[in-house]
Amino acid sequence: MSVTEYFSSDYAEARKKFIDAAREAGATHERFVNPEKGPNGEELSTDIAWLGPRDADNVLVTMSATHGAEGFCGSGVQVGWFKSGRAARLPANMALLQIHAINPFGFAWIRRTNEDNVDLNRNFVDFNHPLPVNDGYVKYQDIICPKEWSDEIAAKTSAEIDRLIEELPPLVMQGAVSSGQYVDPNGVFYGGTRPTWSRKTLGTIIETHLTSRKRVGIIDYHTGLGPRGYGERIGDGGPGNPAWDRAQDWWGDLTSSDDGSSTSAPLHGTNLNGMVALMPGVEVTSIALEYGTRPLHDVLLAVRSDAWLHAYGDLNSDQGRAIKAFVRDAFYQDADDWKQMIWSRGIDTQEIALARLAD
Ligand SMILES: [Zn+2]
Repeated sequence: MSVTEYFSSDYAEARKKFIDAAREAGATHERFVNPEKGPNGEELSTDIAWLGPRDADNVLVTMSATHGAEGFCGSGVQVGWFKSGRAARLPANMALLQIHAINPFGFAWIRRTNEDNVDLNRNFVDFNHPLPVNDGYVKYQDIICPKEWSDEIAAKTSAEIDRLIEELPPLVMQGAVSSGQYVDPNGVFYGGTRPTWSRKTLGTIIETHLTSRKRVGIIDYHTGLGPRGYGERIGDGGPGNPAWDRAQDWWGDLTSSDDGSSTSAPLHGTNLNGMVALMPGVEVTSIALEYGTRPLHDVLLAVRSDAWLHAYGDLNSDQGRAIKAFVRDAFYQDADDWKQMIWSRGIDTQEIALARLAD
């Protein structure tokens, strides 16, 4: 199987490739069925594969489709890791846990968010406490998420957002759009009102497989920010935070969304933060591996048009199909050169983590 064949053209194909590759490599498979169905009526699930001793002290975790439509990327690396014969070289006292499609609904329906239009990477907040406030989102809500949609409205609002990105201090407008908001259920980067199915599923996986380990590494695969094909390693927290510093020592080229060194604005309720909190006493070293696709202008437009489509539009119209094709392209560059770049950086990142965990 060549590198480009590790990648799939839809969720169902990706799921099948993952399970087949995991079994071939000798991993055990477990399935968590999502209550919703895919666009072709197919069953949706998060599938996990465990390779290595059950009592291993150290575990590397990989995760795909935190943002559903970004799942093509992470799935490809996960499948490739199994297919490329690396299972035989897993270091001693070490296990690999690959979590495939933690947000299967978003993967199948080609959207970042889940079945409730919730962004899993903004959902890990404490809902028993006051929720984060994003004044910028409220201020620019009518521009970010207009209730009517056409090519003209898309162009006009995009130009306005571009102007504000340019005029305001770095990452302020991007933060207003993308840092997370808890007030507009039809809007973008919505964090929800309660833990989502995906968050609860992740909690079960962590409780069952990870809380008793000594050391855990996590690589969460994302797409949509930065130069096309380049994989930015974004640490959790920032310099001075022991977990961030450790990750920097492992990988050497970390950025932080907290200090302006990343292409990402500071975020609320991220899953890496939430996962770490579920493993007290375990030394967790985690990154988001964020690959570029298209310019930020296009990616924001894709997210905004998709939010409108699911809230107010018709998925089965020409307009709906055009938006979906645009969203897919914004998160998955279905091209051989891009897949090669994803694979080589992804596998390098995983191999470094395995070597450091085994040290
Ligand atoms: Zn993402």
